[in-house]
Amino acid sequence: MSLFDFVFGCSHQRCSFPITVKGKLRRSAAAAVTGTYVVCLDCGKEFPYDWTKMKMVRSEPDSSAAPNPITVASGSKAA
Ligand SMILES: [Zn+2]
Repeated sequence: MSLFDFVFGCSHQRCSFPITVKGKLRRSAAAAVTGTYVVCLDCGKEFPYDWTKMKMVRSEPDSSAAPNPITVASGSKAA
């Protein structure tokens, strides 16, 4: 890995065939996202792969994007 890759990141143009991990054990962080991941042949970094979109998922899963929509109408219970 060159300093350029270290600073700006690898472009990840060459990746392995998508690898599907069966079972919940021995999943890497990348495979845990979609269950399928690809490995960059240049830098060796693993990325989650989305079969439905036929592309790798580059962004980290953001759990804060969709908080639980709790819409409870309080005060409707008339005792
Ligand atoms: Zn790479």
